[in-house]
Amino acid sequence: MTVLVKGAGVAGLATALELARRGISVEVVEHRTDIGLGASHWAGGMLAPYCEREAAEEIVMTLGLSAANWWDEAAPGLVQRRGTLVLANPRDLSDLKRFASRTRGHRWLGEDAIAELEPDLKGRFGTGLFFSEEAHLDPRQALRGLYQAARQLGVSFRFGEKANDAGAYASVVDCRGPQAIGEIEDMRGVRGEMLYLETTEVSLSRPVRLLHPRHPLYIVPRGNGLFMLGATMIEAEDDGPITARSMMELLNTAYALHPAFAEARIVETGTGIRPAFPDNVPRLIETSEGLAVAGMHRHGFLLAPAMAREAAERLTTTHASERRRSA
Ligand SMILES: Cc1cc2nc3c(=O)[nH]c(=O)nc-3n(C[C@H](O)[C@H](O)[C@H](O)COP(=O)(O)OP(=O)(O)OC[C@H]3O[C@@H](n4cnc5c(N)ncnc54)[C@H](O)[C@@H]3O)c2cc1C
Repeated sequence: MTVLVKGAGVAGLATALELARRGISVEVVEHRTDIGLGASHWAGGMLAPYCEREAAEEIVMTLGLSAANWWDEAAPGLVQRRGTLVLANPRDLSDLKRFASRTRGHRWLGEDAIAELEPDLKGRFGTGLFFSEEAHLDPRQALRGLYQAARQLGVSFRFGEKANDAGAYASVVDCRGPQAIGEIEDMRGVRGEMLYLETTEVSLSRPVRLLHPRHPLYIVPRGNGLFMLGATMIEAEDDGPITARSMMELLNTAYALHPAFAEARIVETGTGIRPAFPDNVPRLIETSEGLAVAGMHRHGFLLAPAMAREAAERLTTTHASERRRSA
C-alpha cells in the first residue's frame, strides 16, 4: 500500500518524510523537473515563530516553536540559531514599540548591543529588538536535505508529470501549494517578490527586519556575500516578474539598513505565490482522495514540520484502522 504525495515543495517533502518515518511506503510525484521549484524556491527560510506572531495567529507561533529542532534532525547542519534582529529608523520607533507589544521572546537592545551583534551596523540604529531563540536556514539547501533524507527512507520520486492516477494508491496527500488555488475552497494567493544581492562590503550574521509603516522588509544573509531581500505581500495571484515599485522598495530597505548595499549586485529576482486561507493559517483538509496540506502562506518552512507530522499521524491512524477492519 503506497501513499501518493502530490508536489515536492516544502509541504510535500516534509509530509513524505514524516510518512516514511512511520514505515509507510510513499511515492512523490512532482510536475516540475526537480524538487522545490514552486513557492518554496523563493522563501527567506526564517524560522521566526515569535516575530511572525506580530501579524499572525497564536497557533502559528505555537506550532512553529519546534520547527528549528525538526529541521536540525531532518537536514542536519543547516539550521543557524542566531536569532532575529528587528530594527526601525528613529522616526518609526512607535512601530518598534508596537511590534514589541504584539510579540514575546525578545529583549530591547541599545546602540552598543546592536553593534556587538552586528558590527557592520555600528552607529546606524539606536534601538532594536532581539529575538534570540529564532533561527534561519537556506531553503534551497534545506529542501535538498529533505529530499535526500526521504530517499534514504525509501521514498520514490517521479518528476515532470502531473499526479492524476490516484486510484492506484492507498491514499493521496495533496501538497500542490498555489497550484491548488481555485480547487481548494477559500484558498487565495499572496504575491511575494524578492531578490538576491551580492556584496562583500557588508556582513550580517542573522536575519534583520527593518520596520517601516508601509513596507516591513527583511534581509537574510546566505553567506559568501549573498543576501536574500524580501518580501512583498500583495493580494494577487500574478507570478509575473518583480515590478519596478517593489524593486525600489526592497532596495530602499537595503540602503536604509546600510548604504553599502547601493553598490551590491542584484544577482537574482523572483516572485512566488503564497497559498493562503482567509485567516492565513494552514489547514489539513479531508479530500475525496485523502488529505490536503494547504495554505502554508508565509510560513511554509516554519509550519511544514508540524503540518506534516499531523498529516502523517492521521494517515497512519486511518491505515491502521483499515488494516484492523480487513483482518
Ligand atoms: C518571497 C517569499 C518569501 C517567503 N519566506 C518564508 C520564510 O522566510 N519562512 C517561511 O516559513 N515561509 C516563507 N515563505 C512561504 C513559503 O515559501 C510557502 O509557504 C511554501 O513554499 C509553500 O509550500 P508548498 O509546498 O505548499 O508549495 P510549493 O513550494 O509551491 O510546492 C508545491 C509543489 O507542487 C507541485 N505541483 C503542483 N501541481 C502538481 C500536480 N498536479 N502534480 C504534481 N506536482 C504538482 C509544484 O510544481 C510545486 O513543486 C515565503 C514565500 C515567498 C513567496
